Amino acid sequence: MSHIVLNADAVSYRIAGQHLVETATLTVRCGARLAIIGPNGAGKSTLLRMLAGLLEPTSGEVFLNGSNLDRLRPIERARQFAFVGQIDAADPQLLAADYVALGRIPHRGVFSKSRDREIVHDALHRTGIVQFARRRVGSLSGGERQRLQLARALAQEPAILFLDEPTNHLDPKARNELLSLVVGLDVTTVAVLHDLPLVAPFATHVAVMNHAQLVATGTPDETLTPRIVNDVFDLDVLRLAHPSQNRELMVFEAPGRTACSHQRSIR
Ligand code: ADP
Ligand code: MG
Repeated sequence: MSHIVLNADAVSYRIAGQHLVETATLTVRCGARLAIIGPNGAGKSTLLRMLAGLLEPTSGEVFLNGSNLDRLRPIERARQFAFVGQIDAADPQLLAADYVALGRIPHRGVFSKSRDREIVHDALHRTGIVQFARRRVGSLSGGERQRLQLARALAQEPAILFLDEPTNHLDPKARNELLSLVVGLDVTTVAVLHDLPLVAPFATHVAVMNHAQLVATGTPDETLTPRIVNDVFDLDVLRLAHPSQNRELMVFEAPGRTACSHQRSIR
């Protein structure tokens, strides 16, 4: 089994007397894709930011390859971790390739300029946007910009990629494409996902949060169970055979919907 690259030991984040995350313990193995799921306000982004070393836990510790994140210098952390958040504040006038080159900053001076250019080109290529290299960031669509952010993160050559709701603002097709793209990258990834049907196809592991607590961790099969999905999301989960492919589909829906009195009243 592959080794543990990241682990959080009883991390909490408390502010103004309130726990946003309470004693969360989890491990991420090399090559895994961990999805953090839970309702709005559950503490997912706070946990992700602590795992990525962007927010210091008020108690507990995070270790990267056995070393406490506290003891890593910021430059070292920037070489190891790439973070794609929900808000992209990129200058719209920047050329796409120059934006992706920002990912090389933590490695500046380590490689030759031509090697840095190669890595930027490779990141654009792997995310399928090499044709936009000379376009201005502001001229790209939502889905293209999301890929661009991912390309910048890849240019960092991180040990771990952190994504916070990367499919926000994308249409259903682009959501699928973006997550398939991340699967194909074969990089250890920790992603907050809010789209439940996308979780099982994407993730090797799932961490379920509710009310600041980590309430379940395990494989998608172990965590997307009727009981957990019902407790945490107040949804029913149906597992159906795909009509034409040899795989299972998960459908999430509001529980106990019978003939609808609401509809009757609309009529
Ligand atoms: P999620 O990503 O699961 O939606 P967050 O981790 O962003 O949740 O936030 C968890 C809860 O903590 C939310 O209710 C949010 O409003 C609150 N919160 C986030 N940051 C702060 C802060 N700096 N001070 C007080 N409350 C906060
Ligand atoms: Mg969030």
